[in-house]
Amino acid sequence: MEQIREAILNGADSAAIAALPVPTHYRAAHLLASETAMFEGVPSEKKDPRQSIHVSDVPTPELAPDEVYVAVMASSINFNTVWSSIFEPVSTFGPMKRLSRDSDWMKRHDQPYQVIGSDGSGVVLKVGSAVRLWKPGDHVTIHCNYVDDQDNTAHNDSMLAANQRIWGYESNFGGLADLSVVKANQLMPKPAHLTWEEAAVNALCNSTSYRMLVSRNGAAMKQGDVVLIWGATGGIGAYATQYVLNGGGIPVCVVSNSDKAQILRDMGVEAIIDRKAAGYKFWKDEHTHDESEWRRLGSDVRDLVGEDPDIVFEHPGRSTFAASMYVAKRGGTIVTCAATSGFMMEFDNRHFWMRLKNLVGSHFANYQESWQANRLIAKGMIHPVISQTFALENVGEAAYQVHHNMHEGKLGVLCLSPEPGLGVTDPEFRAKVGEENLSRFRRS
Ligand code: NDP
Repeated sequence: MEQIREAILNGADSAAIAALPVPTHYRAAHLLASETAMFEGVPSEKKDPRQSIHVSDVPTPELAPDEVYVAVMASSINFNTVWSSIFEPVSTFGPMKRLSRDSDWMKRHDQPYQVIGSDGSGVVLKVGSAVRLWKPGDHVTIHCNYVDDQDNTAHNDSMLAANQRIWGYESNFGGLADLSVVKANQLMPKPAHLTWEEAAVNALCNSTSYRMLVSRNGAAMKQGDVVLIWGATGGIGAYATQYVLNGGGIPVCVVSNSDKAQILRDMGVEAIIDRKAAGYKFWKDEHTHDESEWRRLGSDVRDLVGEDPDIVFEHPGRSTFAASMYVAKRGGTIVTCAATSGFMMEFDNRHFWMRLKNLVGSHFANYQESWQANRLIAKGMIHPVISQTFALENVGEAAYQVHHNMHEGKLGVLCLSPEPGLGVTDPEFRAKVGEENLSRFRRS
């Protein structure tokens, strides 16, 4: 890998990169199938990714005709890194076993280990015999929609494909590693004005928020829409906030401390709710809702923007879902992609049907949506929300911080890139986009 790193850092051309030998082993953050029961009986919040994530060498898998090897320069932590490392809600070794039944090539995924990670930026090292549009030396970012396009259900909207999976979560050979094996249809051009780590943090969260808010498959936000965004400085929330501001909407952003509120003000958000300061208690106890608290949230939103939300960007799940359902405007849309606080959700159906609301389930993004979201990053219209960068050896610590909501925006991870700040190939455009926009989430 050292030879590969040197070649990339020295700007080797396509032919030189293509001539490099692919190593038989590579360094990777991985889980072990033998440890999936290690947290049995431990409460969720005590399950520690630092114990379950290992970083050491794993064997390099063979390359299928429609795949490429990517030398991963940087990657990022997603909440799915947390889910897989605490083996909740299920162990990801099950989905990989099922994937391995799809074809001879997919058998490679069924290993006693799983290399995790669903984001990456890097350089194409080698392409399979069926790959047409990419070549060694290309600078790329990787999106995580892992789909077999020979299946008829994968066409129209590939997120509806019967065999749709998330790379590095429901498949092996993910991005938190020095090397990855991905399908060619996961590749997108790396935005030239970004560093490796800035380019690595966007694809999963940015594309998810794009589908949820901008795409016709999601809430299809229009100018003037009021959008209530939970976790507005978190991974998906920080991109959602940018989409609402860019699209002429009116964001009402919920966060849990004043530092996060300040980041939002710097982005140009005016309506901000500090949920900790407000002290909402939507549940009286584990089984009983407090409807007066839904009304209090609704009245706080009205105080700020004078009307109810057209769209609620929902993902905390059980703790907030009933309130989200309640506060949405008559005819409004609640779009959800997750349930961080619990997936068995309840709401008062009367507020849903009598007020003719819509509930949209959303999951990641198809290739076109991911490409459009990446294009907006490349045009400097949406910015990476990286706050910190970790070494690959410290992936467990980074996942721990996300698990305990100790972060803002996204956490980047350096893989082959030896230090932060490398990989920019268009410094003029970077200057035009502005460091203040690119470093808004950075911790000093
Ligand atoms: P982050 O942890 O980065 O951000 C989530 C934010 O939600 C936090 O910053 C926090 O903000 C807020 N939050 C957490 N718990 C609660 C709660 N109980 N009530 C209200 N707000 C809460 O995670 P991501 O944004 O990356 O992901 C969020 C969820 O979405 C995860 O469950 C993840 O797995 C899922 N996801 C799903 C995707 C899909 O394709 N289906 C894609 C990406 C993510 P604060 O404390 O400031 O209020």
